[in-house]
Amino acid sequence: MNGAAVRGILPSARGGPGRPDLSLFVPDGYAPALAELSPAWLDSRGVRGLLLDLDDTLVPAYGEGLDPAAAAWVRACRDLRGVVVVSNNRNRDRVASVATELGVPYVHLALKPLPTGLRAGASLLGLPAREVAIVGDQIFTDVLGGRLLGMHTVLVGALSGAPRHPARRLVRALEAKILAGASLPNVTAGGVS
Ligand SMILES: [Mg+2]
Repeated sequence: MNGAAVRGILPSARGGPGRPDLSLFVPDGYAPALAELSPAWLDSRGVRGLLLDLDDTLVPAYGEGLDPAAAAWVRACRDLRGVVVVSNNRNRDRVASVATELGVPYVHLALKPLPTGLRAGASLLGLPAREVAIVGDQIFTDVLGGRLLGMHTVLVGALSGAPRHPARRLVRALEAKILAGASLPNVTAGGVS
């Protein structure tokens, strides 16, 4: 495959001479929290199923409990759309307990951004990638993984706020640098743009 063909399959060409194309890392939309994501926006894009990240999307990364607002949002939309929790977390009990509480299936040790876990999630939904949205708090796992498979991608703010570990702080800094130059549609219920 030559360079022109590769560029042709990317979601959009934002690169140029001397500027890397970062579009694989830029989500279709952003909401400060899962609970603020607009169901109407999902409908407008033909999304019939959701793959939800676990840590810092449904549960604070440094906590145990399912975020009450996120749980309420999932329960409200669960009957209209399929929902699967897809987590890179290797702790099966942690992933399973949240998924069970929400009444949805799960994939743990998903290895995002590799396609395996996200494909397994879409298979559980019984939907093609174009009808699936991945929602998560990290662009190098959730957004990139979804982009590579042609899914809709939504970045949400992390539930636990500023990370404690230096490696996580570095990742957040890289994410901020990439997103600083990107246009990020607001896809909250009160402000779809
Ligand atoms: Mg996460």
